[in-house]
Amino acid sequence: MRTSYVGRLAPSPTGLLHLGHAATFWTADFRARGHNGTLLLRNEDLDPQRSKQEFVDAMLEDLAWLGIEWTPPMIVQSQRLALYREAFEKLLATGHAYPCTCSRRELAQMMQAPHEDTDDEPVYTGKCRPTSNAPRTLQSGMNYRFRVPDGEAIRFIDGNMGAQQLTTGKDFGDFLVWRKDGLPSYQLACVVDDAAMRITEVVRGADLLKSTARQILLQRALSLPAVAYFHTRLLVDEHGTRLAKRHGALAIHTLRQRGLKHDDVLAMLQA
Ligand code: GLU
Repeated sequence: MRTSYVGRLAPSPTGLLHLGHAATFWTADFRARGHNGTLLLRNEDLDPQRSKQEFVDAMLEDLAWLGIEWTPPMIVQSQRLALYREAFEKLLATGHAYPCTCSRRELAQMMQAPHEDTDDEPVYTGKCRPTSNAPRTLQSGMNYRFRVPDGEAIRFIDGNMGAQQLTTGKDFGDFLVWRKDGLPSYQLACVVDDAAMRITEVVRGADLLKSTARQILLQRALSLPAVAYFHTRLLVDEHGTRLAKRHGALAIHTLRQRGLKHDDVLAMLQA
């Protein structure tokens, strides 16, 4: 009998899945099965420049090859913009978001999940932060940031990594929630979808720990239910460098083409 456990796989179709994804997705699959739960798939295709259909196709083939069974239909973020906008307007009405006119460079980064050792957004300087948190209305053509509380320790118990603590203003600052081209940031879309999909546990890489803390704040501001977290440790190569999408040779697609079997990949991860 199915239980109420609901997990999800949330790849961004901006490149080929690599070994790190295989490790995280197998963990997600394992945990969903262990709980007799359901595993959903969400296509995080909100980056219009980098998302490509060919990567969606490759991701579906790779998941099948990895033996990961998810429950259809696939949720597609680009088809859910009204939902994100509604949540964003709630943040505006409750004084949690403010317009920001700085930092174009950060803009490019906000559409994807920030990955710690490469492009996690820098702590915001607070340049556009207003003195009061008065309610606001949406003006088009503006970027908006979420106002984090000052110096608050965000704590949670991770199912894999134990007690975690990240402090606002130190580990991360006011972060982008809405882009001037009318799209939500990864953080906002993720929180809205995890709640709408009734996810009970998020399994993701440890590079997203700071994002988890941001998302806990968003859940609180939007009165959404809390979720359990299980962060998987990052895979590193023999030089201690994190394996990431750019290591083309470690793309699942490439390993598959080289004739490896899914058990060979599992053995590589366990080595
Ligand atoms: N789409 C994100 C990524 O590629 C993952 C997001 C998540 O697990 O919340 O890293």
